Amino acid sequence: MLGGTGVLKKIVMKFGGTSVATGENIRRVASLIADYVGQGYGVVAVVSALEGATDQLVEAMEQAKRGNKDYVYEFRQKIFGKHLTTAGKAIEDSHIRGEIEQILKTTLDELEKVLVGIIYVGELTPKSKASILSFGERLSAPILWGALRDLELNAQYYTGGEAGIVTDLNFEEANPLMNVTKYQVREKLEPLLEKGVVPVIAGYIAATQDGVITTLGRGGSDYTATIIGAAIAADEVWIWKDVDGLMTTDPKIVPTAKMLPELSFQEATEMAIFGAKAIHPRALEPAMEENIPVRIRNVFNPENQGTLIVKEQKIKHGDAVKAITLIKDVALVNVSGTGMVGTPGTAAKVFDVLGKHNVNILMISQSVSEANISFITRRNLLETTVNALEIAFLGGRLIHEVTAEDDVCVVAVVGAGMKGTPGVASKVFTAVAQRGINVRMIAQGSSELNISFVVKEKDGEEAVRALHEEFKLDKI
Ligand code: ASP
Ligand code: MG
Repeated sequence: MLGGTGVLKKIVMKFGGTSVATGENIRRVASLIADYVGQGYGVVAVVSALEGATDQLVEAMEQAKRGNKDYVYEFRQKIFGKHLTTAGKAIEDSHIRGEIEQILKTTLDELEKVLVGIIYVGELTPKSKASILSFGERLSAPILWGALRDLELNAQYYTGGEAGIVTDLNFEEANPLMNVTKYQVREKLEPLLEKGVVPVIAGYIAATQDGVITTLGRGGSDYTATIIGAAIAADEVWIWKDVDGLMTTDPKIVPTAKMLPELSFQEATEMAIFGAKAIHPRALEPAMEENIPVRIRNVFNPENQGTLIVKEQKIKHGDAVKAITLIKDVALVNVSGTGMVGTPGTAAKVFDVLGKHNVNILMISQSVSEANISFITRRNLLETTVNALEIAFLGGRLIHEVTAEDDVCVVAVVGAGMKGTPGVASKVFTAVAQRGINVRMIAQGSSELNISFVVKEKDGEEAVRALHEEFKLDKI
């Protein structure tokens, strides 16, 4: 027994889109939770919206803004049908099912009212957007709650705000006010865990101090889980997905890619994009701060222990590099001009223009000659980027040329053991050169945990294979 709470271990379990995609999947999740509760674990379940639901809400609010009434009414029918079918498969007991169906109906009535309101005003504000986006989780969480009670578990359902998560007024990407949040969440959830109750929390959503709904940014349910984990000093936070864990690289590129049993928070943050299965680095923060391990696990293969993300860097001799990631759909932009040489503030001006146009930069490089700055953006923002820079600078004295290439990709080599280990970069670039691949741009932060470089898109996968082989990642 730990911490005097009477439970063996406190685990926050987050279930994402595919793990709650269907009624059958929700039953699977419920019995998984029941298993752990049966073993004496204190479990807090955090649920995200049914697969695709949040995207559908985004579409519905856009249509409402354009005044498309028909779309909104049809959408209400469709989303109601989808959740009813899901609840029907997830919950056997007709009494519990009836109760959940009633909640779904009331919740959807409210959603409809908000959408109709948008149709009339023809405007979306950050506040109204957050309100609409919150419905995915407000509809999915009650279904899991019902499924747990169906298995005769004692469970309670809460929205993020009801569970005690308080945020600032940044409605769509709200930041939790951690001190109040920790206090409130602890006060709310600890007594439940002690009584063997499973709190089911709608992920992604929270509330301002006045109780107005906010969201934690897309993909934010992971963040909900780590915030709660930090608040109740959980033993671990488990992020249940549909893959075994994080891999040395994308197995579609290298079939012998291996699962990584353990990574440090820093390494996980560096692997900002885990192939297609991203976990937002922000979600790791609360866990990192309170030193709570985060485990990525597979709902469809619960025997597998998954990937554990922990504080300590465990560096064995020779495993400087742990993973290789390939980031596609990017573009390289180069701004150049002799006017930039020795002129303070040039970089600030360039990035200020990009910031004002909402262009996010993935990678930056400037050599000491100072005559050019290269950076990488998402490919779909390339036109915006080049136009913004041309309008701002061309004809002036600072920058003479803006060029772009859209057929490139970024290869990132990650590993804590790279820090202070001479020769890693030379191994990386030799391996790539031996395959006849030309490197277009390079960046390594002084953290030394990540070397990123840019190659032509057609060479990306080959570069990944070369590095996976060079660092013998299939032998870890
Ligand atoms: N449902 C939200 C989204 O799709 C949050 C999440 O899935 O974590 O972004
Ligand atoms: Mg989602």
